Amino acid sequence: MIYDFVVIGAGMAGASAAFELAARSSVQLIEAEQHPGYHSTGRSAALFTRNYGTPLVRRINALSEPFFHAPPDGFSDGPLLHPRGALAVAGPGDEARLDAVIKASTRCNPVVEMSPKDVLAMVPFLRPERVSRAAYEEGVADIDVATLLKSYLKGFKNRGGRIVTSEPVIALKNGAGTWTVTTAKGTYRAKTVINAAGAWADKIGALAGASRIGLVAKRRTAIIVDAPAGDPVNALPCVDFASNDAYVKPEAGRLMASPGDATPTQPQDSQPDEMDVAVLVDWIERETLITVRRIAHKWAGLRSFVADESPVVGRDTTVANFVWLAGQGGYGIMMAPALARAVASLCLEGRLPIDFVKSQFTIDDLGPVRLGQNATV
Ligand SMILES: Cc1cc2nc3c(=O)[nH]c(=O)nc-3n(C[C@H](O)[C@H](O)[C@H](O)COP(=O)(O)OP(=O)(O)OC[C@H]3O[C@@H](n4cnc5c(N)ncnc54)[C@H](O)[C@@H]3O)c2cc1C
Repeated sequence: MIYDFVVIGAGMAGASAAFELAARSSVQLIEAEQHPGYHSTGRSAALFTRNYGTPLVRRINALSEPFFHAPPDGFSDGPLLHPRGALAVAGPGDEARLDAVIKASTRCNPVVEMSPKDVLAMVPFLRPERVSRAAYEEGVADIDVATLLKSYLKGFKNRGGRIVTSEPVIALKNGAGTWTVTTAKGTYRAKTVINAAGAWADKIGALAGASRIGLVAKRRTAIIVDAPAGDPVNALPCVDFASNDAYVKPEAGRLMASPGDATPTQPQDSQPDEMDVAVLVDWIERETLITVRRIAHKWAGLRSFVADESPVVGRDTTVANFVWLAGQGGYGIMMAPALARAVASLCLEGRLPIDFVKSQFTIDDLGPVRLGQNATV
């Protein structure tokens, strides 16, 4: 059988794209790992933050948001978003760093300044002497990532899509308008290949003979710790610290903390660096009233960026019928609904969806052409 599309990678990007494409075409989804979502998708902070990322990313987030609130009928068993809210706090000397946060306020997504007194009442684990200015963004929400991924995959299969796991793609060959995709276990034939391989996207591009997009995988660390005794945590907002990129957010009755690190690394099954974890624990105890007696869980994941830190979605500039869906950085869960629609529309209709056009996106804003050929880091 010759499929219309082979999608490589069953993280959030590949699963969502496969779902959208399967509405009108035959799709084979191929995943290297035993479980979809094993890499970046399963290791995120699971936040929907409309005002996060490059200006282009923020516009994509806005186009994703309606899907989270109102997915197609029967798509998921429960809500995809849960209210969280986010507080940005600045200590003495860092107050001006909140100017940009507050400036991003809009009528639909307000960001309001809060007094340190109100902030300390809201988040008891903050050190009073470390809070001199704060801003609150109510629209930030937790994404139920597991439900979103499961629902995309279920919907994909219901639309006739097929998925194989534990099959890393090892070769790609194009002859007479058909791709032959070779995995460790078999071969698949398709008219078009969608490259949704996350941190490995440049490696898949190289197999196809495409120019690099200059993707750099950056490791980010996270730990789960107990909240101070007696503090109910589930209703707390996510707290972003303006002095660095660190944040602390509730996670199933405990607190998740990340230093917001971004250490360039090779694509791999990312593991936390012990030194990064030690520095994070020291920072938490200095900057907050949390005492870290025990780390319940720790992990690291990769956030992959091209030079301009916006995603790369579109046809390769030199290799025919090879399409990129990569470089989602730290925003790939929240952008997934919009980018999946974009890649499907580009592939099936040769144009962007109408909401992208109305938002003044052009095909070149998203595609690899903006990076130039042989992009380097
Ligand atoms: C700590 C952390 C916090 C984050 N927080 C957020 C957040 O709050 N909100 C948000 O929106 N985003 C967040 N992100 C970013 C988000 O997780 C990623 O942007 C997103 O998961 C990328 O999805 P993906 O499908 O492109 O990549 P992945 O999930 O990595 O999927 C790529 C898949 O391709 C497969 N693959 C690779 N090579 C091959 C091959 N040769 N053959 C077959 N399959 C292959 C891999 O096995 C993998 O399953 C965070 C990331 C991290 C690490």
